[in-house]
Amino acid sequence: MTSAGTIEDAKGPAELRLALRQMLGEDIVLSETEEMLRFCRDWHGDVTTGTVAVIRPRSTQQVAAAVKACRELGLSIVPQGGNTGLVLGAIPDAPERQVVLSLSRMNRIRKIDPADFSAVVESGCILSELKDAIAKMGMFFPLALGAQGSCQIGGNVSTNAGGVNVLRYGMTRELVLGLEVVLPDGSILEGLSTLRKDNRGIDLKQLFIGAEGTLGIITAVSITLTPYPDHVATALLGLASLEDAIRLYRRARRDCCDLMSAFEFMPPLAFTLAQEAMPDLPIPISAEYPAYVLMEISGSGLVDVDDLMQRFLEGAMEEGLVLDGTIAASQTQARNLWLIREGMNEGQAKRGTHMRTDISVPLSQLASFVEEAEKAVSEALPGAVSVSYGHVGDGNVHLNVLPPAGSTPEERIQLIYKAKTVVNEVLDRYTGSISAEHGIGRLKRPDFDARLPATRRKLLTALKHAVDPEMIMNPGCQLRF
Ligand code: FAD
Repeated sequence: MTSAGTIEDAKGPAELRLALRQMLGEDIVLSETEEMLRFCRDWHGDVTTGTVAVIRPRSTQQVAAAVKACRELGLSIVPQGGNTGLVLGAIPDAPERQVVLSLSRMNRIRKIDPADFSAVVESGCILSELKDAIAKMGMFFPLALGAQGSCQIGGNVSTNAGGVNVLRYGMTRELVLGLEVVLPDGSILEGLSTLRKDNRGIDLKQLFIGAEGTLGIITAVSITLTPYPDHVATALLGLASLEDAIRLYRRARRDCCDLMSAFEFMPPLAFTLAQEAMPDLPIPISAEYPAYVLMEISGSGLVDVDDLMQRFLEGAMEEGLVLDGTIAASQTQARNLWLIREGMNEGQAKRGTHMRTDISVPLSQLASFVEEAEKAVSEALPGAVSVSYGHVGDGNVHLNVLPPAGSTPEERIQLIYKAKTVVNEVLDRYTGSISAEHGIGRLKRPDFDARLPATRRKLLTALKHAVDPEMIMNPGCQLRF
């Protein structure tokens, strides 16, 4: 079901684009096909679609006007932030009837208030730029992910992004104090409160966090800040197994109080992949261990994180949990350790189209899940390489599968399909989640749909019909109603 167009349904994309330019202004609506294509390609470059138009408003009022114009013309809207999402949520799947609404021009920081530990920012702010501006005021916004140089805060909220600091600060949901949203009828929900405590009935902002643009367009966000953690200790550790990594994590939770800010698990292949992306990247530890952990402790003020890290690792080594390790002696060394983790993604991308997952299971079952799923993959797909890594503390693993070198594009697609089926079969036995942090988008819709309990489907359907009765907001994303 699309929006309620009648006469307008007869118009082609070029006429609709012209009508939008007349209604909203030429500056707001892109007209060149080449320019528009950039907004219709996913981050990996695996999928390119098309669109009637790309709308680029500069203000909340312009977003509201765009929503009303689209309704009038019978067009539906795909909101787009930095377009770094990995599940095809931000690019159209019905190019003849959908527009892309890019938030990238709505990038003003309205207020940073250190006294209140809060900020109010527009959705199009790029995450790393926002974090830098906040850091200049001595404050910290803890959301941290590999795509932070391109993703936008509105996209982060719409996907309830996770990242490397979740174990200490929580998912994006925990960092949002309020939202301003343009609803599907063009009205504006004003909720940019910075109150920590506000129990006046149902917390409506929660509906839009993780909704992937299916209920409205987030135009501004109020967020919570903490003091900038200027003391950071970073270590790369070699271990005997993922099981030991989980033991080490539990010990760190006990010994390091709440100061641990990251705990990332990687296989030895991480080094090869990172160096395939960045040949000059130094690897300061032997690649002989079966498992690696990148661990960070951070704090501000009177806290001595270097001493804490040192004493923690001494104990863990005495116990035989950590076999080898290196502690960064400078910010550059710490940055290089993080580049290994981040370079893994790029290294995998360089090996061509492959199967990517974003899975979570209870922490206590993570090691056995990974072992079982990797075994199932190697039995079903000889020659394929499983790469499991991720935010161990959250029970979140990316179990990716790389096709054998020299695979044709068709063989790769077949492998992806088969690998996904094999991994999901194991996951279902563990009652885990097919999406720990990336969302559903269009890519995971069939898998989400197939696993949706009837009562949850009934509620989601009722909610969608109540908020967006004409189904104009990101149709085809998450579910088809
Ligand atoms: P987009 O990709 O543009 O959009 C994502 C979804 O949100 C779409 O459905 C879109 O329609 C909707 N949307 C966007 N903006 C708005 C808005 N203002 N209002 C309403 N709807 C909107 N994700 C993690 O959670 N953790 C990670 O560690 C992580 N690491 C990554 C590393 C790399 C290298 C890459 C490429 C991606 C990674 N991601 C990760 C995925 C991605 O970066 C996040 O999902 C991010 O939050 C998406 O933000 P974006 O601005 O790019 O959104």
